[in-house]
Amino acid sequence: DNLYYIKELGHGAYGKVYLVHDHKQFYAMKTAEIEVMNAKKELAQMYINEKQIMSQINHPFIVNLYNTYKTRGYLFFLMEYVDGVSLRKLITDKKKTELYNINEVRFYGAVLFTVLSYLQSNKIIHRDLKPDNILIQTNGYLKVIDFGIATRLSDAKDHATTIIGSTYYMSPEVILGKNYNYSVDYWA
Ligand code: ADP
Ligand code: MG
Repeated sequence: DNLYYIKELGHGAYGKVYLVHDHKQFYAMKTAEIEVMNAKKELAQMYINEKQIMSQINHPFIVNLYNTYKTRGYLFFLMEYVDGVSLRKLITDKKKTELYNINEVRFYGAVLFTVLSYLQSNKIIHRDLKPDNILIQTNGYLKVIDFGIATRLSDAKDHATTIIGSTYYMSPEVILGKNYNYSVDYWA
């Protein structure tokens, strides 16, 4: 009741993300319909997973999850609002003949590597790294979003085998159903 709707920010495969505010600051609110989840049990598991993993993460270049809520009809993820555009949009907006600035490419690459090494030190594989899930802020720094299919390894389980991700960005070992670990994020 304390949050006010401003506009839609985007949508993924199942839910929408809205820009909201509470008179003090902006937030991004990711929503999921309970009805859709009841029909698709693995979807519920995905949101539980996303919450668990995001609650363990605290990094300047990864979107921060503040809280989650549930009403009769919806699940809500209250997140830090990232003011910017996806790397996907930056790439597709470029004309075919336009060159990419090598310093920009280096910078985004380097920032992304700090994120991946942080995730690895916390035993987390993102598994869905792609331009849509990288937001470039107006201040020039990027933020990684969308931990819906991320997974956490442990001392007992030092690899994953589930064939999951977004086709174009899936590494050979994922596609082939082999054992894999953090390196698949670097491949993506
Ligand atoms: P899904 O898990 O359904 O793919 P995402 O978490 O990737 O959902 O969010 C869908 C879209 O919403 C993103 O591609 C992005 O455009 C927008 N979005 C998501 N989180 C934020 C955020 N914290 N700030 C601004 N925009 C966001
Ligand atoms: Mg996404």
